[in-house]
Amino acid sequence: MSNRQRVYRTQVVILRRRDFSDADRILTVFTPGMGKKELIARGIRKTASRKAGHLELFTHSSLMVAHGRTWDVVTEASTVESFRHLRAGLDEIGQASYLAELVDRFTEVDNENEPVWDLLLIALRELDAHALQPDFDARLLLRWFELHLLSVTGFQPQFFHCLNCDKPLEPVTNYISMQAGGVLCPECAGVAPDAEPIEADVLKVLRHLQRNMWDDLRGLKVRPSLMHQVDSLLYRYLLSILERRLKSVDFLRRLQSLGSAGGPQS
Ligand SMILES: [Zn+2]
Repeated sequence: MSNRQRVYRTQVVILRRRDFSDADRILTVFTPGMGKKELIARGIRKTASRKAGHLELFTHSSLMVAHGRTWDVVTEASTVESFRHLRAGLDEIGQASYLAELVDRFTEVDNENEPVWDLLLIALRELDAHALQPDFDARLLLRWFELHLLSVTGFQPQFFHCLNCDKPLEPVTNYISMQAGGVLCPECAGVAPDAEPIEADVLKVLRHLQRNMWDDLRGLKVRPSLMHQVDSLLYRYLLSILERRLKSVDFLRRLQSLGSAGGPQS
């Protein structure tokens, strides 16, 4: 095998880290071209490690990586965007961890998904830019991220046409089914046993978040009672998917604290 094949360069965002043996760490990273990867950073917990500063949680880094038997090995690391504010406060750590964990849970190793990469960077940049600003409400950004992550990982809820008869949904009280993955018109509500009413205002916010990029939503104001309903609904929507996909009590608890409970400030 030539040197060219044994080593590759990639950008990464560090999603998760765990200690391994005496001085190493296993990193769960997301990449633009290879999806999620697990890499090993050897010697990174030694005080003399030059790589350590470039492999902090949530950092956007550029790495040289060598193919390895169990894990590929980080041989060089440099910071592209440090996102240091995301590690500066408990709210920020909680919000960034939440984004990282959602990406971890909704993606598979070695499954390329560049839209997830783009989405993650938009959200991390926005959180980092507004970190430590007490008037910034991250909830709208988190809800936007959740909806777009669902879309690019194959779980997009249907908010525009009735899931059963396919008619465009009218601005009336319709019905949402977590199990069926979207909204039913009043005539079809009976087909899904778990269907529950969804008010026109709530559906309007969800549609607006789903079909717009963040640049067009920045500064959007949603009244608190309405936002609370959106939070609660999306929380339960994610929960219904994740319950089918995984069992992680810690993560579900965090989902709750950042979702239905009204955001990290409360
Ligand atoms: Zn219908």
